[in-house]
Amino acid sequence: SAAPEVHEFQAETRQLLDLMVHSIYSNKDSFLRELISNASDALDKLRLESLLDKDLDVDTSDLHITLTPDSDARTLVVADNGIGMTRDEVVGLIGTLARSGTAELRRSLAEAREKGVSDAAAEELIGQFGIGFYSTFMVADKVSLVTRKAGETTGTRWESTGDGTYTIDDVPDAPQGTSVTLALKPVDTEDHLYDYADKSKLRQLVKRYSDFIAWPIRMDVEKTVPVETPDSDTESDEDKTPETKTVVETETINSMKALWAKSRSEVSDEEYQEFYRHVSHAWDAPLETITLQAEGTFEYQALLFIPTQPPFDLFMRDSKVGIHLYVKRVFIMDDCAELMPEYLRFVKGVVDAADLSLNVSREILQQDRQIRAIRRRLTKKVISTVTEMRDSRPDDYRTFWDGFGRVFKEGLVNDPDNRDALLKASSFASTHSEEELTTLADYIGRMKSGQDTIYYMTGESRQQIVNSPHMEAFRAKGIEVLVLSDPVDEMWVSVGAEFDGKPFQSIAKGAVDLGADDEESDDTSKEEQNKAYADLLSWLTTTLSDDVSETRLSSRLTESPACLVGDTFSMSPQLEKLYRASGQ
Ligand code: ADP
Ligand code: MG
Repeated sequence: SAAPEVHEFQAETRQLLDLMVHSIYSNKDSFLRELISNASDALDKLRLESLLDKDLDVDTSDLHITLTPDSDARTLVVADNGIGMTRDEVVGLIGTLARSGTAELRRSLAEAREKGVSDAAAEELIGQFGIGFYSTFMVADKVSLVTRKAGETTGTRWESTGDGTYTIDDVPDAPQGTSVTLALKPVDTEDHLYDYADKSKLRQLVKRYSDFIAWPIRMDVEKTVPVETPDSDTESDEDKTPETKTVVETETINSMKALWAKSRSEVSDEEYQEFYRHVSHAWDAPLETITLQAEGTFEYQALLFIPTQPPFDLFMRDSKVGIHLYVKRVFIMDDCAELMPEYLRFVKGVVDAADLSLNVSREILQQDRQIRAIRRRLTKKVISTVTEMRDSRPDDYRTFWDGFGRVFKEGLVNDPDNRDALLKASSFASTHSEEELTTLADYIGRMKSGQDTIYYMTGESRQQIVNSPHMEAFRAKGIEVLVLSDPVDEMWVSVGAEFDGKPFQSIAKGAVDLGADDEESDDTSKEEQNKAYADLLSWLTTTLSDDVSETRLSSRLTESPACLVGDTFSMSPQLEKLYRASGQ
């Protein structure tokens, strides 16, 4: 056959590989989790494919993952008989770091490199992004992957030493699925490089990271068994050591338990954490774990996670909903957008529904009553979990809010049915405290007597808002104002939200009545003042007629001579900007 084709990695990919090869990342063990996770995904896909396409020529009778370590050769093979990859897929998926997370990692890395990245900073980057398949280069000098796509006859070999290039080659007789062979680096425990050709080490890692994987993970183990000799029964000599021999047995080393089908008390935090990492392809720990088991008309189980770290594509257009759909333990699809509203797209996990058809399509899902019922229930559950977190674990809640609050608040616009619950779970910056956020209930608790609206001001930053002339009178009178500086705030305050019967009112719009205790606002003096300044006001209105519709005296200023106020029903400058930016 022809010589293997040599391909060059892109410059940034090379940088990333270089980082892996020289990694000081202490959790090098995680390469195994990544390979097993990929193998498991490939088996899920093949089973589904074979259920949907009866003509597909594949053997699905014994889907599994095998670990084959060789101590003498210092190699480890991780193999699956799953869906496999075509040659183009190998180049696209393995050759070019196509994942959005890795694209982001590359960018951060390039930036960090310019500033002269420290080892610790590089380590942090790895832990933050995860690097999937490429993590193998932390433990291997050379990685070769042989794969054959289900239904195809020719396989492909991909090979690299993690330097500038990789090779691609046809393999005529490749078995179904994918096998990854690692030429292991020498053991160096100081550098967190353990003996990954050692069976007890591998067993320990599978137990820790991959026990829940739904497919058998097999390994050949040597066992010492007594040799049955014909006269052993009659032998009475106690001193004689029994004869033994070594046999090789294939053992399944994971317990394959579906965590979502277990009750909470049966599963440890570590198990949940590893499962979260598997379904989310992330390397952080979940901030919150949510379990739900529904019986009755619609039977389903859900295991959901709120991550600690926001993913980098959270605000990108193609950002995915993170729920995997199973039907009676059979994987159906990932990123099942029908199961979670877009504003909860950061939630990761699994829903296993009992009564759906296996070949359910996205089109059918959109119409399905059961799916809609599940989605409603999950949505409420996530919102109430956030509220509980706020009340019982304020620090975790703050982490959540800083990472996901802006996304969560999209629900105030898009999900009117849950608006009350969402407002209750939300927090807001306010003039009450510079650091702390406030709940609306607490805001209402501090309202002045006679105050019947929740005052807010929107703007680009806290700085800009609190320094605005509109604030002056409120500050002088000690009336608290919500400081809303996220772009999404503009949207939800304009949909007529109320909390506890109290409307939201912008301090920068319309006439704000700050109460009768103010002498200057009583009617006679206001009238007199208006008379006294009538000439000035009409001259100002005429002179500024291109820019303002009216000029009036105001009680809202204490220091500044004048300020611009929007009509009660006008758009705020920020909203105008938003609409303009979106081309409307
Ligand atoms: P991720 O799993 O997060 O997508 P990886 O770097 O681990 O990222 O893998 C990249 C892609 O390569 C996978 O999405 C998958 O399409 C493909 N892939 C990796 N390993 C396998 C495998 N064992 N069988 C089939 N496809 C695989
Ligand atoms: Mg992966």
